[in-house]
Amino acid sequence: MADAHRTTPIKRVFRGTLIHATPEEAVQVREDALLGVGPDGKITFIGEGKELNRLSLEFSFSPTAVTQLEKHEFFMPGMVDTHIHAPQYSYAGTALDLPLLDWLNKYTFPVESRFKDLSFAQDVYTRVVRRTLRNGTTTACYFATIHTDSSLLLGHIADNLGQRALVGKVCMDMNNSVKHYKETIQESLEETRRFITKLLEKKYALVKPVVTPRFVLSCSGALLGQLGQLAKNNNLHIQSHISENAEEVKIVKELFPDSASYTDVYHKHNLLTNKTVMAHGCHLSDEELALFRDTGASLSHCPNSNLSLCSGFLNVRKVLNHKVKLGLGTDVAGGYSASMLDAVRRALDTSKILTIQDPEHETLTFEEAFRLATLGGSQALSLDDQIGNFEVGKDFDALRVNVAVPGGPIDLIQHEQPKILLEKFLNLGDDRNIVEVYVAGREVIPSKE
Ligand SMILES: [Zn+2]
Repeated sequence: MADAHRTTPIKRVFRGTLIHATPEEAVQVREDALLGVGPDGKITFIGEGKELNRLSLEFSFSPTAVTQLEKHEFFMPGMVDTHIHAPQYSYAGTALDLPLLDWLNKYTFPVESRFKDLSFAQDVYTRVVRRTLRNGTTTACYFATIHTDSSLLLGHIADNLGQRALVGKVCMDMNNSVKHYKETIQESLEETRRFITKLLEKKYALVKPVVTPRFVLSCSGALLGQLGQLAKNNNLHIQSHISENAEEVKIVKELFPDSASYTDVYHKHNLLTNKTVMAHGCHLSDEELALFRDTGASLSHCPNSNLSLCSGFLNVRKVLNHKVKLGLGTDVAGGYSASMLDAVRRALDTSKILTIQDPEHETLTFEEAFRLATLGGSQALSLDDQIGNFEVGKDFDALRVNVAVPGGPIDLIQHEQPKILLEKFLNLGDDRNIVEVYVAGREVIPSKE
């Protein structure tokens, strides 16, 4: 097997501090590590600095070609945004004064209906992919709109700019507030099939389709069932929303009196699989969380959105105790920030609010929030065999973080240990600290355009 290694060409070798999460350790630090990336963008080896000579012989690279990280720099895995609405980026930072259902009718549906216009879509989608990449989101799970061609355009833009993405054409056959922003069930199914076929035909390395019923209140039972079947027949990812706010939960119960719960509605329609990610879940019962665990479906915690729309609090500790896969999401534009660093901070804030309410509550640690933003997200999207942390054979999706970047937001008063540097970056850092971003070994920030 060693011979196979020797023939593997190496594209880049880095030396410095690596910080990542494993299932056993929420933050694992490897100082003075060597990491090799192959031309296929995968991690070829991880070793120690003192093994430089041996590794350079084994993997045929010149020790002088190694990129050395600076003193206050480290690599961490790229962050995974498990829930973001690309079209809503157009009004991010505004329209935060209404609860969910009113917010959808007043702000969201009128804006999303504009994405029939491909030039508008091109502009907004280019900006959201650029902005999220710049902020360290190497993988994003996107909702687009009901429009197939502009949803395909989002896939093209993500591929072109080098972001790993799941892209969903939104399905909705129920909408009484904006008449022209809905589909018939036939249109929704035909267009979803067309979207999936066309996107897969492009053979993008990093961009895949995801079946996307908006949420129960936007879809008839018949449409939910057909979409579940479609996902099952083609082994596709599924995304939607669940149990975001109390009024929504109440209406779902009235509409589906034969279902035991909101979760049961999706389960009955074959929409809970190990490739399903559901946003929010603030008001789920223990029985519903057990159903998530048993089906392998995951949750996306979107704390900025939950606070901004006064939807509720997700008890992350309870979700983790139920062994449900969990990632973080920005949920732009219900969440006003497109940065996953904000999602980390709001997740910690939310957990502390729960502790204020109940001192027995075990507060989330920053280490755990870091794991949710990276490895947890990859698990939530069932991509953890490819991304999420630094392991040989996984793709090199990574952020080069410089905590002391000149002109940056962090003052380092004394020399700090790597874990403290990570904590400062998570709490105080921003995109100025993210000096390079790699997706599958390709350097996408700084952009070469
Ligand atoms: Zn959402």
